[in-house]
Amino acid sequence: MVFQTSGDPCGKGAASVNAKMAQVDLHLHTNRSDGQHAPSEVVRLAYEAGLKLIAVTDHDTVGGIAESATAAARYGIGFIPGIEISTAHAQEQHMLGYYIDPGAPVLREICLHFMQLRDERIGNTIEYLHRCGIMITRADVQAEAPGTYLGRPHIAAAMVRAGYAADINEAFKKYLATDAYRKTPRPKPTAVESIEAIRAAGGTAALAHPDSLHLEAGALSRHVGELKSFGLAGLECCYGTYSRAQTALYVEIAKQHDLIVTGGSDFHGLAIKPDVMIGSGRNHLLDYNDLSVAEALKAAADA
Ligand code: AMP
Ligand code: FE
Ligand code: FE
Ligand code: ZN
Repeated sequence: MVFQTSGDPCGKGAASVNAKMAQVDLHLHTNRSDGQHAPSEVVRLAYEAGLKLIAVTDHDTVGGIAESATAAARYGIGFIPGIEISTAHAQEQHMLGYYIDPGAPVLREICLHFMQLRDERIGNTIEYLHRCGIMITRADVQAEAPGTYLGRPHIAAAMVRAGYAADINEAFKKYLATDAYRKTPRPKPTAVESIEAIRAAGGTAALAHPDSLHLEAGALSRHVGELKSFGLAGLECCYGTYSRAQTALYVEIAKQHDLIVTGGSDFHGLAIKPDVMIGSGRNHLLDYNDLSVAEALKAAADA
């Protein structure tokens, strides 16, 4: 199935000079993964920002869907149940799933399995940090999280609290986004497995923030084309930190492969990503207004 992308899907062209308010944000995190705010708070923030259509896409969990869906209905905001699955790749490769059924056994299983591995990885990461002279404990990390989900942002927050880094970004830059850290891997599903799980749960798969793969344009296009042959339906071309040029490149790649252009801020809360605002990203770089994306994603999910 072919989905046409409009000429200016992220609203960054001349027509948007009048600074329309961003209306759509399909990439939001709650405190059920590594976001700052409870699901209903994220929806309230979306409402206050004037958003008309949102998707909650927590990492490797659907634990925030029920609460955010209820809140979205109360605020009268269009809502897409989503997920963001971390997948195996030399760099970071995240797969977004839209319109997934949060109760689907296949998804629950994959989430549970990889959450257990995520939890084991925390211990390895703490050992790695100890070798670096950073003496934080699992209890310190747990103190930064409201539930059982522990991710690198919680480790970073614990490091900041203990005075080992000035802020979360510095903790990542010096310790958690380094080659040394990458030697402390956690097993992840392959991209193809994540697409299959999303599709088996009734959803549509879209590749998140394609720059994180660190591929040049030709290699990225080939990679995306291959994923499409396994059922990929969308590409996150509009993102909270992308320049107009970056977005244009990804839109071009989406067009090459007839993929749905998706967009979202990757909002985590300002305590975690201080420069990424809900709906608008960094310095209003995100201006994504394609309300028809909901229909396109739903149609692809049902196809
Ligand atoms: P994890 O899934 O535990 O490996 O952590 C990945 C999460 O850490 C991402 O989804 C972001 O929320 C955050 N993150 C990754 N890289 C950075 C970075 N360089 N600076 C700040 N946060 C980051
Ligand atoms: Fe995150
Ligand atoms: Fe991501
Ligand atoms: Zn994300």
